[in-house]
Amino acid sequence: MRNRQATRLIFELSRPGRRAHRLPPSDVPQFELSDIYPPGALNAQPPALPEVAEPDVVRHFTNLSTLNMSVDTHFYPLGSCTMKYNPKRNENAAGLPGVVDLHPWQDDSTVQGMLELLFELQGYLAEIAGLPAVSLQPAAGAHGELTALMVAAAYFRDAGQAERTTVLVPDSAHGTNPASARMAGFRTVTIASRADGTVDLDQLKSRVDHTTAVFMITNPNTLGKFDAQMEQIAEVVHAAGGLIYLDGANMNAILGIARPGDFGADMMHFNPHKTFSGPHGGGGPGAGPICVRDFLEPYLPIPRIVRTATGYRLQENEPKSIGRVRSFLGNIGVLVRAYCYIRTYGGDGLPEVSRHAVLNANYLLARLRRHLPVPHGDRCMHEFVASAAQVKKARGITAMDIAKRLLDYGFHAPTVYFPLTVPEAMMIEPTETESRETLDAFVDAIEQILQEPAETLRAAPLSTVIRRPDEVRAARQPIVKWTPST
Ligand SMILES: *Cc1c(COP(=O)(O)O)cnc(C)c1O
Repeated sequence: MRNRQATRLIFELSRPGRRAHRLPPSDVPQFELSDIYPPGALNAQPPALPEVAEPDVVRHFTNLSTLNMSVDTHFYPLGSCTMKYNPKRNENAAGLPGVVDLHPWQDDSTVQGMLELLFELQGYLAEIAGLPAVSLQPAAGAHGELTALMVAAAYFRDAGQAERTTVLVPDSAHGTNPASARMAGFRTVTIASRADGTVDLDQLKSRVDHTTAVFMITNPNTLGKFDAQMEQIAEVVHAAGGLIYLDGANMNAILGIARPGDFGADMMHFNPHKTFSGPHGGGGPGAGPICVRDFLEPYLPIPRIVRTATGYRLQENEPKSIGRVRSFLGNIGVLVRAYCYIRTYGGDGLPEVSRHAVLNANYLLARLRRHLPVPHGDRCMHEFVASAAQVKKARGITAMDIAKRLLDYGFHAPTVYFPLTVPEAMMIEPTETESRETLDAFVDAIEQILQEPAETLRAAPLSTVIRRPDEVRAARQPIVKWTPST
């Protein structure tokens, strides 16, 4: 249980006159601030800052830092988000003075090392994607989607095919897919999934035409299934003159095993903060590098990193480019971590990452389905979706109740109510870095939770400082200012 002290605000700990340090009287000649500043520029009263001793401050912030769950403190099976362990050596590398002390306005000639690292990273991503041209600029996966769709729009305009204004999106897609399409100026058309979660090929055939610009697909998809019709899908879309966009958020399942460029994708993004172990959550920062086919390269954002006989430089003069999508070169700190991760595992190690991620997910699936139905089969890729629809019908317990109760058991909840195609969805992604003991403990917790009285579950979580906030309001109207209760 949480120490009550942990939840007290620093203002409540304040006592008049209490200080962390007392300095001896100054022997430097004093001056009055009012001698320097014009009348009215100074506050009459000093600001009402908390007056506390040093241990109060240290305990306050240390305790606050433990109120949230994190990958470093808890198992975090948040499906689709790939909350894998963040190796500390990557953090150290990203914190080296040669990385953090770079100034974005430095001349190219003084940042050759960083340009080389980023250029090499582009090569690794191109190799993993099977798509040759790369931009590291986008700041998140969703931003990568937007950037690639802007690239596609520029390509079609240039090719005299401005009538291609439609983006097709399966109904199981992440919400960012249709949102990015709309922001890039396209109309979206939803393609239904079949009962097994794969794309309804007949419906796709009936919807593609001369207005089709792009078909966006997440493969493996959000149900943790690899859509094996990929070849036919690509044939249908390409025959109609459209492009295939692969949402690469689930690359953790297929690193070095299958390459999107080989199974039909023309463009894709990576989520380095997911697949390549960058710390994430709480809003970032992430990155969303994109890889595209060679005929789309001229439209990529500027500046491009180019290698010359004498070194690396940034090239701005690209007449067909969509321009900049992010200041400077992107979120370099995340990209350095991805570089370290890829170099650490290498070409032999990355497929092992994916095999372990898939093995862990299947182990969890095999054990969990004895307690909660998994509607889309007994095998998965790196994640799967269980459903609480039956327990809801039988006992009135929802996916949200189970998710909230898991917090009391010391587990971060899975993703719930996504994808929308599964009722009472609980999307579980263990990642490759969890031990069998952790996976067993998680299933044991769910088993126990399902035996608890419904009232207990509806009241959960019982051990957290904040119980069940209105999540929409908390996101839209966060209260970040403390007001004393008088
Ligand atoms: C996470 C995710 C995204 C969006 O990526 P961000 O980096 O969060 O912007 C898109 N699609 C899928 C399937 C995802 O899981």
